[in-house]
Parts: sequence; structure tokens; C-alpha cells
Amino acid sequence: MLTNMARRRTLIRAGRVVDASTNLGPAVILLDGGDIVAAGFPTDIGDVPDAEVLDLPASVVMPALVNAHCHLDLSNLDPRPYDGDFSAWLDGIRTGRPTADDAVAAAVRHGIHLSRLGGTGVVGDIDGRASGIPARELRADGLAGVSYLELIGVGPSRKRAMATLDDAARWPVHETGCVRMGISPHAPYTCDTGIYRAAAALPAPMATHLAETPGEADSIDELVEVLAMRPVAAAHVNYATDEQVRQLAAARTTVVFCPRAAAYFGHRSHGYRRMIQTGVNVALGTDGLPCLDRADRLSVLDDMRLLHRRDDADPVALLRMATTAGAVGLGLDPDLVTLAPGPIAGLIALPYDVADPVDPFVQVLLRDDAPAWVVR
Ligand SMILES: [Zn+2]
Repeated sequence: MLTNMARRRTLIRAGRVVDASTNLGPAVILLDGGDIVAAGFPTDIGDVPDAEVLDLPASVVMPALVNAHCHLDLSNLDPRPYDGDFSAWLDGIRTGRPTADDAVAAAVRHGIHLSRLGGTGVVGDIDGRASGIPARELRADGLAGVSYLELIGVGPSRKRAMATLDDAARWPVHETGCVRMGISPHAPYTCDTGIYRAAAALPAPMATHLAETPGEADSIDELVEVLAMRPVAAAHVNYATDEQVRQLAAARTTVVFCPRAAAYFGHRSHGYRRMIQTGVNVALGTDGLPCLDRADRLSVLDDMRLLHRRDDADPVALLRMATTAGAVGLGLDPDLVTLAPGPIAGLIALPYDVADPVDPFVQVLLRDDAPAWVVR
């Protein structure tokens, strides 16, 4: 694995390279340290005599993935069965989630470790206690993205939510470093529109949970004016009418679809393809580890695989959802997760069978391999 610290020219020769708009091979990627200089067919790049060569003839090389909605602070809780009783399930999460600072930090570190094992280079992470601990752990690792402080606006938590909003108003507008601070009113059923309006008036990135269950579909109408104020990353949106989808597109809302989490809770007919056709930016997220199907990695790669196998979803559209759409939803430069020249959040490689006539990237989606980091 190369690191961004090594300022040297490297030529990666891969069986196949893919990004949100590219699928070609055999192909090469020329790097200067961790920055992309050029990517294309070998004849496009020519000889690079001073470069170190890395040969990956049976690998698909692609940008690191964007998990646009996760709860790393729940990573101490393993996947568990769901019996259809949502409030009992939530109670189990509330009692099992870490509360002491050390325990939160340990859970987040484990979540970061699992994210790296899944080829994740950028996250939109919900800091459920608005403690700042996840942001600190993300910065220590170098995992890029947005750490959203979550606001709960009911009962005694409301006062704390208002104090967090006051603090956030004093955050520097132009933050440096790989992790930005954001704000996330939890959901319309725990935050009133006053909290949503105050959050939307801030320059910080904003996220929320939206229309996860059928009973919440009306909440999109209640939030339309707030959503129109600025781009928001709205997790789930499992239920939306055609008119609501048009409103989300007009508001430049990013919908962060969490396919495995939706399947886990029995929400089976997400309109992600209809949303994309209507002009909504649809990204992918995992949501928290307790509602996933595996505990050995935390990555939207497995959500791409689910959608390809279950819905025959287009591979390039899936990669766009897992990279550039996620970056846009987090307010980041989408070229951090493309093969365009410049800085990148990382490159990962996945094996395929060169003797198999099936497109290598389709093979990746049909197989179960874990990614290996090429550049991090
Ligand atoms: Zn969530």
C-alpha cells in the first residue's frame, strides 16, 4: 500500500480501472505521491521511466468509497435480528450504545477500522451524543468526511440542542483538515421546524433522517421550506410520492439510501432509480452496524452488491452513488473520489477472474471479496 506521505511517482498497471464515469482496461494510473496525475490506456500515458511500477493485472482499481450515512459510535453493537417491534429494537440500541467517553471513542475506532476494511475513504458520520469524540477519532485516522453533531429536540435534550446550535454558529466557516463539522437534527419527529430552521441557517453541512417509515412520509411536506434553504443530506427517504421527489430534486437535497438497513427493517421498495431519473442526487450509506448483515466490514460496497444482485442496478450508476454522489451530498469536492487529476481520498483494488468473459467490475459486484488499499 502506498501512502499520501510518499512524494514519488508511481505507475499502477491494472487489469481494469473504474470510476463514476470510466470503465476501461487494461489501464494505468500515474500518481505523484497520493495525487493522480493521469489515468487511461497505457498508450495514453506513455513511458514514465522514473516511476515505481505496481502491477495489478487481475484487479479492478477504483476510488475509495463514500459512506454518506453511518453511525460509527454504534460499532460496539453487533448485527442483531429484528422482529418487527421498532420501539423494542430502539430500546436495545439505547441501552447498548456507549455513553462513557472512552467507550464512545473505542466504538468509533472500531467503526473506522471496519470502514477501512471495506474500502471506505470518506464518511458522513452521525455523532449521536454531539460530543466531538468521533471527529477527533476520524482526524486521528485520516478518514475524511463530515462529523454531524446530532440534535434531539424533545424533552430535556432540547436545551442541549439549542446550545449546540449556538456553538455551531461560531464555527470557522472555512475549516481545514480532512474532517468538517456538521449539524444533524435527528428527524422531524424529534425536532421541530424551529430547530431545523436554525440548523439550515448555519453554513455547516447539514444532515437529517427523513421518511424512514411509511408514517413519516408527510414529514417531507413539513420540511419542504427548510430543505429549500440549502442542500441537506437526508438519510433513508424510503417513502416519497412523485411530487415529493420532484420537490427534493428542486431543493438539491441529497437522498442517502441505505439499502441493507432498509431491507433489514422491511422497507422494500425504495424509489432510488425514480429519484435519480427525476434529478435527485442519490448517495449510499450503511446506517449503523446493528442493522447490517455482517460485522467484518462497514462499507457501501456491500450495498452496491445487494442492489446489483437484487435489482440488477447498473454498475456505473451504483459506483456514482457510492462515490461522487456521496461527496456532493457531504459538500465535498467529488473529484476526491474520481480518477481525475488531483488529490484523492484513496484507491482500492478488488480481484476478478481474467479468464471470465463477464465485465470485471460486474464480477466484483457478484463476488464477495474485501477490497485492498492501493493508495491511502
Ligand atoms: Zn441513521
